[in-house]
Amino acid sequence: MPTKDYYKILGVDKSASADDIKSAYRRLAKQYHPDLHPGDNAAAEKFKEINEAYSVVGDADKRAKYDRGEMDTDGTGFNPFGGGSGFTATGFDDIFDMFSDAFGFGGRRRRSAQSNVGSDITYQVELTFMESVLGCTKPITFSRLEKCPACNGSGAKDSAHIKTCDKCGGSGQVRHVQNSIFGQQITVGPCDKCGGTGKIVTEPCKSCGGKGVISKNKVINVTIPAGVENGSVLQLTGEGNAPRNGNGRNGNLLLEFSVKPSALFRRDGYNLYVTVPVSFKTAVCGGQIEIPAPDGVFIHNLAEGTQNGETLRFRGQGVRRQGAVGDLFVTVSVEVPKGVTRSQKRALEMFETDNSLKNYAKRRAYLDEIAKTYPKK
Ligand SMILES: [Zn+2]
Ligand SMILES: [Zn+2]
Repeated sequence: MPTKDYYKILGVDKSASADDIKSAYRRLAKQYHPDLHPGDNAAAEKFKEINEAYSVVGDADKRAKYDRGEMDTDGTGFNPFGGGSGFTATGFDDIFDMFSDAFGFGGRRRRSAQSNVGSDITYQVELTFMESVLGCTKPITFSRLEKCPACNGSGAKDSAHIKTCDKCGGSGQVRHVQNSIFGQQITVGPCDKCGGTGKIVTEPCKSCGGKGVISKNKVINVTIPAGVENGSVLQLTGEGNAPRNGNGRNGNLLLEFSVKPSALFRRDGYNLYVTVPVSFKTAVCGGQIEIPAPDGVFIHNLAEGTQNGETLRFRGQGVRRQGAVGDLFVTVSVEVPKGVTRSQKRALEMFETDNSLKNYAKRRAYLDEIAKTYPKK
């Protein structure tokens, strides 16, 4: 069971609507945002906690899991690469949107214009079950914003058409004063006139229309590590969009994996589960059965008298990821033959007469129990 009460952290009821949760989150995140409390560790901790809570109960699927008690509270339950930051890509956008609203920053920019980072791109990658287990290399085709080669990202027709911004004096920064119950808060933010670049373009570049970036189709070969799960995300740092208005760092490319289910395997973490149909004769007499595993099919000698539903465990034959490896669990499903011939039926009848009950331990115990429960009067 989760130990942290995310609803309590956000100050909402367990039955709160998605809108209520969102507005509670926005209110608290504004209140505790580190920019408003420089050097205040308690506020930073609280801000982290709020974000962690919202990353779970702000998402319908994760909230349902959390309500059922299926979610780890350390964040690893939904961060497949174990970063555990609790943030999601949308979470960042959300916070940013909120700050745009709060401080009247023009336009939509990520985190801060000083670092001038392009936006992230999320791309869905379909994998077969075996590709996800073994890893693979795949070409990924997507379009992203790249620095405009005609203006080298400046957005101007040429260098003569770039002026220093008169609002911020070229620094790209302006001071915002906000009155709150804590007193006057002074924050420094990007200039809305120049978008934080410190420069104003008087005549835009014809290729990019002044944006400084153009959309380009891109193909990259991505090595997908072994063991990724359905819904997990691989971040390719710097492969996202180039920032608008000039130079800076590209955003990230987030590959979200959609793994097609397997007809043979079921997966739970590192362990694999498979049900192997076994013939009636092989279950009785023992014999060779084929077992599918990540490295291929291997032959196993099934012991004589294996029962229906018996599970065999093969250590180290599960999913391998980052040095860890799971097990393979094989459940034997004995198939009762259908449509046997008359002579086959006769042979079985003879078998039952010959053996009477000596080969059926469970049936024997069951009949004994019936006799004890209903004693003859
Ligand atoms: Zn251009
Ligand atoms: Zn400016």
